[in-house]
Amino acid sequence: MTRGGTPTVRTCGTSPVHERLLRTVPGYAEARSRSENGAWVARRRGVARQVSVVRIPVVVHVVHRTAQENISDEQVRSQIEVLNRDFRRRNPDVDQVPEVFADLVADARIEFDLATTDPDGEPTEGVTRTRTSASSFADDDRIKSAAAGGADAWPSDRYLNLWVGRLSGGLLGYAQFPGGPPETDGVVITFTAFGTLGTAAEPFDQGRTATHEIGHWLNLRHIWGDDGTGCSGSDFVDDTPNQGGENTGRPTFPSVSCDNGPHGDLYMNYMDYVDDVAMFMFTSGQAQRMRACLDNDRSSFVELA
Ligand SMILES: [Zn+2]
Repeated sequence: MTRGGTPTVRTCGTSPVHERLLRTVPGYAEARSRSENGAWVARRRGVARQVSVVRIPVVVHVVHRTAQENISDEQVRSQIEVLNRDFRRRNPDVDQVPEVFADLVADARIEFDLATTDPDGEPTEGVTRTRTSASSFADDDRIKSAAAGGADAWPSDRYLNLWVGRLSGGLLGYAQFPGGPPETDGVVITFTAFGTLGTAAEPFDQGRTATHEIGHWLNLRHIWGDDGTGCSGSDFVDDTPNQGGENTGRPTFPSVSCDNGPHGDLYMNYMDYVDDVAMFMFTSGQAQRMRACLDNDRSSFVELA
């Protein structure tokens, strides 16, 4: 849903992109199975020891046709600040997590820095800017290709690639799960849902779209298990309650589904579909699953440290 071209309800394209890669990319299904095996082993082992903080170099590819779409460096930096709060449990709004869920809140111990060295070893600000003739982009990865009017990825074993441009169809963003093609690995976010100032527009002006999508990039699933509104889907995380469908907007506690009362859904989780001002937390189980991803598929980032 959109108002004046700006999305009003969170819509993430990660699942359809995942389905497309399953159909079209040889070896992707096997790579996903390996990722799930790694996550399963970590889950069986139990809550991880206190692990070192992993710092991830980020390059932001700004792909623009209009001056407005060419967002400022300041807006880019505002997004990085949000990530460093949300993935370190330093977000001030974490105190809005209902008391019954407070013990679940985790510090994921992941930090993000704009890259200071480009793939050729030259100094960089960590932002690329590309003029395009495309009036908008879909979830088809054209924004990730210079030949198709976008910007090519930097090596995805050394950088988290974030593309920012105008997405069509009310799409806020999408990520590629671990195990996909390196040349399309990363996260795409529409320019009105990136950072906290400039073109960022309510209700997605608090930088949480990137938090959600980078969660996917680190192998997190939607908290309701992507089975429509059923109760059989799973996010493969033990400490998140079973949940029917997605929550949207600004729910009030409790939001009960799938006999998960009295406390109900963990709708204030970054992997639900609520507004930016209504999501505040990852759980310990999610932090462990992201860590398993960094120990397996994305181990090159641990080794960079
Ligand atoms: Zn999503």
